Amino acid sequence: MGIRGEPITVMDNDNGASWARVCSKFKKEFGQQAYTTWLDQLGYNGLDGGTVELTAPTKFVRDWIQRNYGPRLMDFFHAEDARVKSLSIRLAAKGAVPATPSQPIARVPSAGADTTAAASGGFTDTSALDPKYTFDSFVVGKSNELAYAAAKRIAESDDVSFNPLFLHGGVGLGKTHLMHAIAWEVQRRAPQKRVAYVSAEKFMFEFIAAIRYKDTHAFKQKFRTADLLMVDDVQFIANKDSTQEEFFHTFNALIDKRCQVVITADRSPTDLEGIEDRIISRLGWGLVADIHPTDYELRLGILQSKAENVGDVDVPTEVLEFLAKRIISNVRELEGALNRVLAYATLVGRPITMEMTRDVLQDLIRANDRKVTIDEIQRTVADYYNLRLAEMLSQRRARVIARPRQVAMHLSKQLTSRSLPEIGRRFGGRDHTTVMHAVRKIEDLCKSDSQLGEDITRLTRMLAG
Ligand code: ADP
Ligand code: MG
Repeated sequence: MGIRGEPITVMDNDNGASWARVCSKFKKEFGQQAYTTWLDQLGYNGLDGGTVELTAPTKFVRDWIQRNYGPRLMDFFHAEDARVKSLSIRLAAKGAVPATPSQPIARVPSAGADTTAAASGGFTDTSALDPKYTFDSFVVGKSNELAYAAAKRIAESDDVSFNPLFLHGGVGLGKTHLMHAIAWEVQRRAPQKRVAYVSAEKFMFEFIAAIRYKDTHAFKQKFRTADLLMVDDVQFIANKDSTQEEFFHTFNALIDKRCQVVITADRSPTDLEGIEDRIISRLGWGLVADIHPTDYELRLGILQSKAENVGDVDVPTEVLEFLAKRIISNVRELEGALNRVLAYATLVGRPITMEMTRDVLQDLIRANDRKVTIDEIQRTVADYYNLRLAEMLSQRRARVIARPRQVAMHLSKQLTSRSLPEIGRRFGGRDHTTVMHAVRKIEDLCKSDSQLGEDITRLTRMLAG
């Protein structure tokens, strides 16, 4: 049996695809019943120097498989990889559940005995997770408290109270961070649960690969056997019909089994374009929580928490305040700015000062002064007038909706470098003449309507800092 007492390197880097193919050959030859009774109980650990490493839950299962199916399994593996010379089936740790075909179990240097736990990291593939993205390192403020509370609830409870959780918000506001935090927490609290985290983009590429290699079984297994599925940036599958279809089936299968699903997107379900209505409606069934742009307090809080964790370098409060005031785009840039100042100070070996900060961040500060996106404008204006974004972008002509819409178009013209046709497109596919009309209308009205003038000034300040 296997190599003992020394570190094992996993040489099988096809992510379990060969195991999935072995499984499907097995099924073809011995039938589904035999597969479910026997092979499905095995965990696949990869290939180690010519030996295929498998784990079985009991001695009985191990012996039975070795006796009855051993030689054929060898044939199947050998067809996959000519280096395969032997099979090793070890006993898995108590309470362990077999890995699914496409999920090799994470390996640790084995301590030796036959009964050594094969699984170390539980059943979650953590390779795509950032260790820094935990609940502890997430700073909570008004703009993200609902999203945070919902994420926390999912990570800490075993019953499904809302499904799916749909988190949305602009880039760099912590959606991915919260998802990874859920995964880490579940893994810590309930390691037997399998969390599948995937970006919608990766979901699509894997799906396409699965079709190409006629291996959709493993693909389906991987996602449909998860206890918790998280799909990041789902707007990515807009207009990608077959990926959407597969996503929808996976999603439904899990929801029907009452498995928790978490989805993120850069906009709300109703604002997702190019995604089928039935999908959108189902995405909104659970809890929809949006993460708003950060406010000054939260930005300062995030900076303080990061600055506390950098060791000996002292970052003056006025520098933190300056950054929080000037870098308003998103948290990712905010972090980037702080890191740049820290790196510079360390390199030149000087303490951090205001002057140095201004110097090092010149370009970033200038960019933040200008960079306002149509998205932000739309969101801010809708918020300001207490409208839903979808409402503001709809075709409705009622004044309470049409006026804010014109304000948003006007601001888009003033604060961004987008052309009129481009702005029109972003406002529900309107014509450039409509935009032009809106811009003029607001300019005119401002002259006579001081309330509107004030609104515009205030909104401009909110958006452009
Ligand atoms: P998104 O997925 O929404 O685009 P990310 O989750 O990738 O954004 O966040 C971007 C960066 O900002 C990450 O490094 C993340 O850790 C950090 N970040 C975002 N929000 C917070 C927060 N509330 N507290 C601490 N860090 C945050
Ligand atoms: Mg993200």
